Amino acid sequence: MSVPPGGAAGLAELADLLSSRSLDDAGLAAVSDSAPDTPVLPEVSVLKIGGQSVMDRGRAAVLPLVDEIVGLTGQHRMLIGTGGGTRARHAYALADGLGLPTGVLSQIGSAVAGQNATMLGYLLAKHGIPVVEPNAFATIPLRLAEVGAAVFPGMPPYALWQRVPHEGVIPPYRTDAGCYLVAETYACRQMIFVKDEDGLYTANPKTDPSATFIGEITVDELLARELPDLVLERGMLELLRDARHVRSVQVINGLVPGNLTRALAGEHVGTIISSDDQHGGSR
Ligand code: ADP
Ligand code: MG
Repeated sequence: MSVPPGGAAGLAELADLLSSRSLDDAGLAAVSDSAPDTPVLPEVSVLKIGGQSVMDRGRAAVLPLVDEIVGLTGQHRMLIGTGGGTRARHAYALADGLGLPTGVLSQIGSAVAGQNATMLGYLLAKHGIPVVEPNAFATIPLRLAEVGAAVFPGMPPYALWQRVPHEGVIPPYRTDAGCYLVAETYACRQMIFVKDEDGLYTANPKTDPSATFIGEITVDELLARELPDLVLERGMLELLRDARHVRSVQVINGLVPGNLTRALAGEHVGTIISSDDQHGGSR
């Protein structure tokens, strides 16, 4: 179906299809994507501060990162999402043992990511950097204009409506996915995952000493490798595969001072994972 991008003919055809077909109609889907996208916050970089990998390490890991972030506010606009970590995992285990469903675990995970956002927010408070809850995201542009950064809880607010995983009960879209979706939806400049390893390895380097480092890989290559464990959530990688805007992400070691500064400047300091161009809506 050839439609001038965003033109009157495209709009008329879309209106016609919308009134006559189901919203799942394939022809309708193709016409609905005819207009060029409007990037919402293209200058902003989204960071995820790991829960288990960073926040749970306390002062030694968190305070140097806070200093680095504060030093970067003059040069970069940053949305800083938080992970959950060990407390979320403990609560998932308890709730699972009690036979509770994925949607309840999702609510619990949100609460823990919220605790980490609260702590990070208080550390950044004297620099004017606020915590913004998902229901107040409309205030983000003002916050960014005023101080250049805001903290948010990284869990996507699916709560009870979290997708049930194919197997098991753990919510498949957790804080890696939540932070990534903010970057993708707002067409942000970049998505950086700040964790405690140099990036992706062939296996979990904490439990497998023979694991080797992978500096760059596509999502398809990564999923095809069927690695025993991953540095990012599998659900997040699947989202990256269909991305329109943020078609690569970087995982860096936030325990190394300066890494975040270099990654924000566009340097390759960790692992870059990108979507394969055969997928998704690259334009
Ligand atoms: P977060 O704190 O952001 O939730 P996680 O603890 O969930 O981060 O994920 C990061 C951890 O993933 C690393 O600390 C590492 O131990 C583990 N990991 C598992 N598999 C891999 C892998 N293939 N490569 C690198 N790290 C891995
Ligand atoms: Mg995690």
